[in-house]
Amino acid sequence: MLRIAVVGSGPSGCYTAQSLVQQDPDALVDVLDRLPCPYGLVRYGVAPDHEKIKSLQNNLRTVLEHERVRFLGGVQIGPGGVPTTRLRDLYHAVVYCVGAATDRHLGVPGEDLPGSWSATEFVSWYSAHPDSVDDGFVLGARSAVVIGIGNVAVDVTRMLARGTAELSPTDMPQAALTALGASRVTEVSMVGRRGPSQARFTTKELRELGTLPDTAVSVDPAELALDPAYADPSGLPAPQRRNIEALRAWAEAPPQDARHRIRLRFFLRPVELLAEAGRVSAVRFERTAPDGRGAVTGTGRYEDIEAQLVLRSVGYRGVPLEGLPFDTTTGTVPHSEGRVLREGRVAPGEYVAGWIKRGPTGVIGTNRPCAKETVTSLLEDAAVLVRREVAQDPLTALRAEGVEPVEWPGWCAIERAEAELGASLGRGVVKLPDWESLLGAAHHNAL
Ligand code: NAP
Repeated sequence: MLRIAVVGSGPSGCYTAQSLVQQDPDALVDVLDRLPCPYGLVRYGVAPDHEKIKSLQNNLRTVLEHERVRFLGGVQIGPGGVPTTRLRDLYHAVVYCVGAATDRHLGVPGEDLPGSWSATEFVSWYSAHPDSVDDGFVLGARSAVVIGIGNVAVDVTRMLARGTAELSPTDMPQAALTALGASRVTEVSMVGRRGPSQARFTTKELRELGTLPDTAVSVDPAELALDPAYADPSGLPAPQRRNIEALRAWAEAPPQDARHRIRLRFFLRPVELLAEAGRVSAVRFERTAPDGRGAVTGTGRYEDIEAQLVLRSVGYRGVPLEGLPFDTTTGTVPHSEGRVLREGRVAPGEYVAGWIKRGPTGVIGTNRPCAKETVTSLLEDAAVLVRREVAQDPLTALRAEGVEPVEWPGWCAIERAEAELGASLGRGVVKLPDWESLLGAAHHNAL
């Protein structure tokens, strides 16, 4: 009987656990997470107003409630916690599903000025991530620049344009709701270094910007026309063609008056963040031109866009985990069909799935086939893996070493506490935003 540890309880971890118990009728799976709460980016990354995507938590829940799956939250793997080598001793196999925990950097002067944040920091704040700090993101700002044109950029742009009435029914923490409700940001420019036909956002997310109350979306037709595919998008793949058509509709629409304005900008690459009185005041961009091969070149012409708030939304990046090999170029763990490779050779018993395996791309559903491939490899290796003696029950061994995981009843207690908090505020469920309240709820109210 295989005992397997899955590290990370986001979509890739849950789909890995699901695939394991479905494909092996005896496998026992522990899903460990650093946080006391499961679901990874579904809880701490999907925007709070995307209730339908968030409801995926219900599917992931059935995995973690499976009789041969245990959720062990609040367990740090690596430095300061359980070493990866110890985990290998306790289980026949370990599958790392740790995602891409940090963000890419722009590498331009002024990037770290007060008022400039990574989109991840902003998302973590309004998603109540317990490591997030309330840095007064929107305080004192009138104009914001979002750098990047992927779906995260669209998320943060949309959140900046939403008002209290739309945000209050979400599970957003109360402090973020109050701050965003009082926000005086009325101008948001979302800026891409390449053209509309190379944008990474998906059409559904793009179009949603046009449905926001009291918000006008503007696109400059002359800027769109810099993209040769704008005049004739017929050669583009369907997703890009649909993006172009959505942008064309805004470009051709008569100007609109609204409290919030979202400007979608293209062919501008950030070269510097400018400061006034020690805070960011504008972003300097260089106008780019398509090079005919999908990339762009600089033109030596510059434009400053005013911003007291800058959100850098240029993608996530994997973080090396002590004891595991890491490819610094791709930010992933080298692998062959999910089997970890050490110096080009398979490391028996170690596997990866999700973003740490293939990089931070794709939608939540992409993790399903990715997890399945890894589990297929693992089960092919089962006959060898099972020969190794492991702990009778890894949880007993971990407890003996002073590890006190938040188990499923602890998580359910957090859920109850969040429902109670929401009721006391006249809202639905409201997330607990810090370690103290999460662990307090988990340890004191677990049944
Ligand atoms: P992304 O899709 O990789 O987009 C990153 C953006 O940053 C691109 O526009 C990229 O431009 C730009 N960029 C990168 N380096 C830059 C630089 N140095 N200067 C200026 N721009 C730069 O990443 P993401 O938005 O973080 O999304 C990550 C994944 O999560 C994606 O697969 C996304 O679809 C998914 N996601 C999905 C949803 C949803 O389905 N609702 C919501 C959020 C996230 P280039 O193309 O020119 O490199």
